[in-house]
Amino acid sequence: MNPSEAIKERHPEIDLEALRDKYRVERDRRLRTDGEEQYVEVSGKHAHYGEDDPYSPEIKDRAPITDEVEVLIVGGGWGGLVTAARLKQAGVQDVRIVEAGGDFGGTWYWNRYPGCQCDVDAYIYLPLLEETNYVPTMKYAYAPEIYEHARRIAKTFGLYDNACLQTRVREMRWNEDAGRWFVTTNRGDEFKARYTVIATGPVSRPKLPGLPGLDDFQGKIFHTSRWDYEYTGGDHSGNLDKLGDKTVAVIGTGGTAIQCVSHLGQSAKRLYVFQRTPSSVDLRLNKPTDPEWKESLKPGWQAERQRNFDDVCAGKNVPDLVDDAFTSIFKSVRLFMPTEGVESLSLDEIKLISELSDAYTMNGKRARVDAEVKDPKVAELMKPWYRLLCKRPTFNDDYLATFNRPNVTLVDTTGSHGVERLTKDGIVANGIEYKVDCIVSATGFEVSSSYRRRIGFEIFGRNGESLYDHWADGLRTFHGWGSHGFPNWFFIGTSQNGLSFNYTSTTTVQATHVASIIKQARERGATRIEPTVDAVDEWVSEIDRLCAAQWEFFEACTPGYYNNEGQANKRKQSLAAVTYGPGPNAFEDVIVEWRNANKLEGLIVT
Ligand code: NDP
Repeated sequence: MNPSEAIKERHPEIDLEALRDKYRVERDRRLRTDGEEQYVEVSGKHAHYGEDDPYSPEIKDRAPITDEVEVLIVGGGWGGLVTAARLKQAGVQDVRIVEAGGDFGGTWYWNRYPGCQCDVDAYIYLPLLEETNYVPTMKYAYAPEIYEHARRIAKTFGLYDNACLQTRVREMRWNEDAGRWFVTTNRGDEFKARYTVIATGPVSRPKLPGLPGLDDFQGKIFHTSRWDYEYTGGDHSGNLDKLGDKTVAVIGTGGTAIQCVSHLGQSAKRLYVFQRTPSSVDLRLNKPTDPEWKESLKPGWQAERQRNFDDVCAGKNVPDLVDDAFTSIFKSVRLFMPTEGVESLSLDEIKLISELSDAYTMNGKRARVDAEVKDPKVAELMKPWYRLLCKRPTFNDDYLATFNRPNVTLVDTTGSHGVERLTKDGIVANGIEYKVDCIVSATGFEVSSSYRRRIGFEIFGRNGESLYDHWADGLRTFHGWGSHGFPNWFFIGTSQNGLSFNYTSTTTVQATHVASIIKQARERGATRIEPTVDAVDEWVSEIDRLCAAQWEFFEACTPGYYNNEGQANKRKQSLAAVTYGPGPNAFEDVIVEWRNANKLEGLIVT
């Protein structure tokens, strides 16, 4: 008997055929043809949903700046902060960060909704812990502690000195004669820079559901990343005391909603949660940092822990030092994989064992919904019918039980592809109007939409070529960071590099690499560097080859930003189809070997 047959015999309750059918049906009824077009950008008449800064007083007295810097970084979140820190460590002092928010922190500046927290082990998620001599207070840090850490990095590396906060880049244009990037902003600045780095992050541009009547609603409406505490009362820890007489609606049930719904349920007079696709929700089980463990940490501990996380997630047989929600998930999708002799199994057999492990794990998550949600009809609607990694798993101890409260109602909208429209008084779903005082749009960000939407400003390289035209048929980079025709230009992104579930590992590896390339270029007295056409072609083909198996998995998934809302024809734009298949550590090994060779191979160096 082969391993998969043995598993089926041990677990007769796993009915793979029935499950495959159910997953297919659930996926198909969510598919829609408009993909990213279903969402409205926060620009033009909707700009205030994303461009207003409710958290810092408006900086009014800064005169436009016209000057030149060595390196200009767009974005003061992790990517920008770590790149700047690494540049300073490499001796490059003339660095400016341009940041839209009133302070550093990126997503942790903007996301202050009640309950906001990071779901990855804080000891690997918060970057540069050893460099800043800090150890987080809890295993899963809350947003205020993470935001404070971003500020700590900025202070430690002197990044406030030359920063332009509450400033949005409007255009970036390469000037061949000057050998500089010319950059303009919404404040009338005209910067020149020898090097530019785009570190705008994957969750920086909120998106709104493109609903008819969006502008007609006359109550309060805001996106979760611009939480209006003046309206709700309370703070990050909840106690939203101004909602006691209010009917509130939340649109969306992704990672953000899962964290804030219990607080809204506790405070609002009435809460409607509009769900299109249920998330899988695990227990959080947070705990404070063990002081003895903290004392025992030896130099180099964080990088070792970060690499270990990605090794465990990649299925390597190593001790699990991190032991967080994500390493548990990756172990659970390999639950039934034999510990020995995997090499001798056929690919189909390996896939089948993974599918059985996945089915067993997801059955457990669906059973947890039954155990937590008292009304069996509501419980049924809240079960996730897809494979575990089709959507980002979520974690919260109180979310499911919130639906047992008499003031909380789940409105499942799958049959009608989500909320239908807004009226002046509320929300229409399944043909019914729900009158509400306040709408909280927990509808996410431009994670994998077109780069023009994601980055949000124009970039023109040599001969005035638009970056977005250059990438019209998919991203074209060398090692994820640079494109031919865009000299001295660096991109810190999620694609064509090693994407980790610990996103800051992804950015730290790239930031370290970018700083090292700029350092090497300066040491050679180079004024321009740029990937060759061949280097880009080879890397794009390599990524295509290594991603085929990933895409096969995600194509069968329920729609979402991992698979470009299920649009197979836009595969190359999808987040899941353009990462380095062998994983983040393997990717880091490739680029470290490349830079240690000290040849800048594949680059035109002038
Ligand atoms: P998501 O994109 O994950 O979720 C958006 C939600 O809005 C989905 O449930 C979506 O449904 C729903 N939606 C969109 N349009 C409609 C509609 N017309 N009607 C009804 N529902 C609709 O956004 P989040 O803000 O939750 O998360 C953003 C990112 O941040 C994710 O990557 C998330 O994992 C991450 N995150 C990470 C955290 C961490 O701890 N590190 C914490 C919180 C978020 P559907 O699924 O059907 O598209």
